[in-house]
Amino acid sequence: MIVLNLRCANAHRFEGWFASGEEFATQAGRHLVSCPICGSQDVAKLPAGPRVRRAARRDDAPCAVAPSGTEPAAQAVAMLVEQLLLASEDVGEHFPEEARKIHRDEAPARNIRGLASREQVGELRDEGIVVVSLPHPHKNAMH
Ligand SMILES: [Zn+2]
Repeated sequence: MIVLNLRCANAHRFEGWFASGEEFATQAGRHLVSCPICGSQDVAKLPAGPRVRRAARRDDAPCAVAPSGTEPAAQAVAMLVEQLLLASEDVGEHFPEEARKIHRDEAPARNIRGLASREQVGELRDEGIVVVSLPHPHKNAMH
């Protein structure tokens, strides 16, 4: 799973998560990638910034913060969460289901946020899906 910096024809910048750079090219070619702000499907890849590369390298490491925990990665996760909240679709309780669909290319690739139990998050991770637990779930509505 990698995070790509993307830009639409209207110069909106956002991020997309893909299995690989090749996967992005395939999805973009099939018009499966669209801007979360204006819906444009004319999307181009931007060079990855340092923040994004660091996030991508963390793919194989735990990237969640327990609600009451303070782990070393907390700051990196907070930055990632901030980016996700800026451009993500709130799918509520359908989060596990939607995350799987996106992972299997059954739904348009996009950032989503929503609700999932710790057990569900564990299952998603087992399937190779990158899930970030929000440290303060009640802030989800602040968008
Ligand atoms: Zn746009």
